Amino acid sequence: MVAFESFILTRLQELSALHTKQYLGDRSQYIGASDIGHCPRKVVLSKLNGEEIDLATHIKFMRGHLAEDLVAGIYEKYNPQRQVELELDDPVPIKIHLDLLFQPTTKQEVGVMEVKASSIPETPYELWEMQLHFQMGVMARHTQKAIKGAIIVVDLNDGDIRRFNGYTPNETIFNGLLKRAKHIWDCITEGTEPETEVTPLCGYCAFIKDCPRFQADEIPELAGDVLKVLEAKDRKKASEAEYKRLASRLLDIVKKKGAFKAGGHRIDKIDRHSTRTDWKKLADDLGTINKSLDDYQTKNPYSVLDIKTLQ
Ligand code: SF4
Repeated sequence: MVAFESFILTRLQELSALHTKQYLGDRSQYIGASDIGHCPRKVVLSKLNGEEIDLATHIKFMRGHLAEDLVAGIYEKYNPQRQVELELDDPVPIKIHLDLLFQPTTKQEVGVMEVKASSIPETPYELWEMQLHFQMGVMARHTQKAIKGAIIVVDLNDGDIRRFNGYTPNETIFNGLLKRAKHIWDCITEGTEPETEVTPLCGYCAFIKDCPRFQADEIPELAGDVLKVLEAKDRKKASEAEYKRLASRLLDIVKKKGAFKAGGHRIDKIDRHSTRTDWKKLADDLGTINKSLDDYQTKNPYSVLDIKTLQ
């Protein structure tokens, strides 16, 4: 690793350790909301052995903090409390940290908001919803007020933001999540074998190398995701074909009529050429005939469509 990357990694490790110390404490001593949606084996092993976090993951964590700062700023006038810690002895030690908690004194309701930095999905991921339900379930043990939950997703790459709301605590879901917490805790304290859950997130798991689920040739749980990738590939091909078809029509107009304006854009063409070199002839002639490389090259002109937005 080059010196700059090594410096960045060290600094991010320090910042992350500081954040953990300040807000989360020793995560091996309790089950948190972010543990609940993950594969139990991954959670158990990371609590028992620690987890080596690479530079990319550190930067993703930082992206999460940035998104949280942004959302807290947006909702500032509603006085959200940040990183509110709540505990539950169930008898599993449970500790949750709410990204943003809204407790207006004038209302008989509180708001729990989970912030995610991510590209924006059509519907929230199950992992996020499990986390929010766990938080609302614990919160319900601490207040008589009605609880409303929301997940807010900030896409820091594309500059987009979306809120999924309307969540309320659900005792059945919460009891199921408490069972998950107990299973994880029992595995940690009694050394029993944790369950595994294969998902596409296994690619981020530090314990995949010796994971029993990945010892086999075939991973049936990933069949649905493979199909989705193939479908997306077909859609990409189809949309590339559609682009070629539509662009070639405009290009034909430009070729015959010249550049034109339409819909706030200037439509033109860029002339290019591809070069083909007759390497065989060049090799045959090598050392016998005094010719330049150009003499062996054929240039084939072509044009590509160029669309510029007019100011
Ligand atoms: S590879 Fe997947 S199934 Fe195995 S421990 Fe990691 S997250 Fe769980």
